[in-house]
Amino acid sequence: MSNAPPKVNVAIVGVGKIARDQHMPVIAASPQFELVACVSQQAAVESVPVYRDLPTLFRACPQVQAVALCMPPQHRNRYATEALQAGRHVLLEKPPDVSVEGVTELRSQATARSLTLFATWHSRFAAGVEPARRWLTERKIRAVRVMWREDVRQWHPNQEWIWEPGGLGVFDPGINALSIVTRLLPGPLSVGDAELYTPANKRMPIAARLHLSDTDGVKIDVDFDWRQTGPQSWDIEIDTDRGTLRLSHGGARMQVDGNEVSVAKRHEYSGIYRHFADLISRGSSDADVEPLRLVIAAFAQGRRIAVGSFDD
Ligand code: NAP
Repeated sequence: MSNAPPKVNVAIVGVGKIARDQHMPVIAASPQFELVACVSQQAAVESVPVYRDLPTLFRACPQVQAVALCMPPQHRNRYATEALQAGRHVLLEKPPDVSVEGVTELRSQATARSLTLFATWHSRFAAGVEPARRWLTERKIRAVRVMWREDVRQWHPNQEWIWEPGGLGVFDPGINALSIVTRLLPGPLSVGDAELYTPANKRMPIAARLHLSDTDGVKIDVDFDWRQTGPQSWDIEIDTDRGTLRLSHGGARMQVDGNEVSVAKRHEYSGIYRHFADLISRGSSDADVEPLRLVIAAFAQGRRIAVGSFDD
């Protein structure tokens, strides 16, 4: 007989690209979770029943213990509040919310009810991130450069929410880079200059340049751009007193002074669900707001620069 604890019954809410690409296959392969239902306005899911809203889900499937909230960020807080009030653990896709206060309030609700709130940052689970963090602990960081340049037409087709307030525009992928940077550099970062390049026909930026710094005065230059065609780049370079570290492919690969460093294979979303199971078993939460705080600061302080209309 197996001594493994029983699986946690989970429901996915919002069945779009990330739910189908990652959450569903990872839960299907997980020894710790069982997908028992979905909540969706439009999607048909063959393997499990689909409900229109959370109250209907919880009435029909009282065995649901946790929900994974995979809808656009503008709607996440409402669903998270409902789920916590109904006594369920909550996994938040990134970005966790449209405000820092929203996440803080959710965390308080989770703690008050002895439930788990997990604000995921999937890029922190990329294979190179923890090896890079360990490598950096014994070095003095001199400068950081972030180049997150991708083709929005390729990666976000028909995602109108991403151009609406709260959708964050180019910061939707960019916040992944900031989630890695805030994991690698200890201490709070602050936003100096920020330039937000916003098409005449859009409400959110298509590109951004940020100049951040840490408490030791280390400069972090950030280049986010959605107009990239050809090779795409999700790279972070860190100059130190003893070599330059490069994390590429969104944090999956690590190089030092141009030489590849072998890192253990790690699947981001498998790591996310293992961590969620661990948090639930320990009765704790993980809801770091630093990447979101920086993005909100960039919006608050950034200079809007108008660029030509963009048709996606
Ligand atoms: P998406 O393909 O547009 O899917 C989002 C889904 O959310 C929709 O299919 C819809 O599902 C639901 N939804 C839409 N509007 C809603 C509303 N008003 N209220 C409730 N639910 C609504 O988006 P996505 O790419 O999966 O991204 C979703 C989240 O995952 C975003 O926060 C994004 O940053 C994050 N993420 C995306 C990726 C990626 O590669 N795409 C990677 C990592 C993280 P139903 O029809 O089922 O209701």
